[in-house]
Amino acid sequence: YTLAKTLVFSRFGEPRDVLSLHTHSISPALPDGAALLRALAAPVNPADVNTVQGTYGAKPAFERLLGTPEPAAVPGNEGCFEVVAIGGGAGGGGGLKKGDWVIPAQSGFGTFRTHALVEGAERKLIRVGGAKGREGLRAAQVATVSVNPCSAYRMLRDYVDLVDLSVQSFARGDGATGGAWFVQNGANSGVGRAAIQLGRLWGLRSINVVRERATPEETAALKRELAELGATVVVTESEFLDRSFADRLRDEWTRGGREPVMLGLNCVGGKSAAAMVKALSPRGCMVTYGGMSRQSFPFPTGQQIFKRLRFEGFWLSEWAKENPAAKRDTINEILELMREGKFKEAPLQEVEWNWDTEESVLKDTIQGTLEGFRPGKSIFVF
Ligand code: NDP
Repeated sequence: YTLAKTLVFSRFGEPRDVLSLHTHSISPALPDGAALLRALAAPVNPADVNTVQGTYGAKPAFERLLGTPEPAAVPGNEGCFEVVAIGGGAGGGGGLKKGDWVIPAQSGFGTFRTHALVEGAERKLIRVGGAKGREGLRAAQVATVSVNPCSAYRMLRDYVDLVDLSVQSFARGDGATGGAWFVQNGANSGVGRAAIQLGRLWGLRSINVVRERATPEETAALKRELAELGATVVVTESEFLDRSFADRLRDEWTRGGREPVMLGLNCVGGKSAAAMVKALSPRGCMVTYGGMSRQSFPFPTGQQIFKRLRFEGFWLSEWAKENPAAKRDTINEILELMREGKFKEAPLQEVEWNWDTEESVLKDTIQGTLEGFRPGKSIFVF
């Protein structure tokens, strides 16, 4: 038998109030096609907290599968696991074998646990790294690839064809000094940092909005950090909201406005999103994927009509359900970039989860995730 520890919740509420650590055992007799997994790393994303609070777009089912006193759900959507055993012997888990690294194929997997028994493993797991497997990859990279980088990749590719716009503008010889522009707020988030790097790799240029830090030095350091990742322009939220921004955009960066900004990625909402609406060029598209300020924003009628703007919402979970093969390919493509040293994961704060780790440490880690100005995303390391 394998002894396992799992975070569970049986009702919605604040993580510190509703989560508990449950110990259970997993039988060595695995059903055919099942896989026994050992956790290696699992990050805590904002959506994980919202799911526990009951405010997320998808509600988990509370079930009795783990022998909890009440029906329960396991939090956590993302993580890197190692295959420990496969039910049905060789070939039982499709192409999976002992020692492989895997990640959940879809949201709602429940990754905050030391072990998982997965039935129908082939369908529910993505084997890491195609033919090369896990070679040259670290567990923290693998554990954080499927939500933030994957979202950034899809949002940069699926709404406006910026790569094609760049190619056309160069072909016209219209004097553009670089690739097509996009603008994003929350630029230092996991998604934002991924968009900066993918944008640079694809020859795009980005205008990146971050919140001021406590001191000018820290703000300058953050701007430098994002510039090193490949950001073309980094401005603070107050520079972005200032009246002068339109002139700067036109005169400093887009050659008198001749280089359009056709895509906006909105992580924040509120005033920052309203400023993004103004920064977008006619026929531009704003993709909302987060609401970190917890504030909505107006869709000004004049901007909608006279600039003919398009407003879209992105939700990775639904996209992945509709496009399972594309999700696998996107992940493996980004893992390959990581392997080649062309893509850096966002800053992470490791929280060790071993057999003796107190429940309160795990709960506090999750509770703290929505606080702003953090040095990095928390990641449980097993
Ligand atoms: P991270 O945990 O990496 O970063 C959080 C970001 O939010 C930081 O940039 C932080 O800025 C900013 N932030 C925190 N509080 C506020 C606030 N009150 N006002 C403005 N900004 C704030 O986040 P992720 O990249 O994992 O996720 C970012 C957002 O994207 C979340 O809302 C998440 O749910 C969403 N998301 C949505 C997906 C989808 O499918 N729709 C997929 C992936 C993510 P600072 O450093 O200044 O605090």
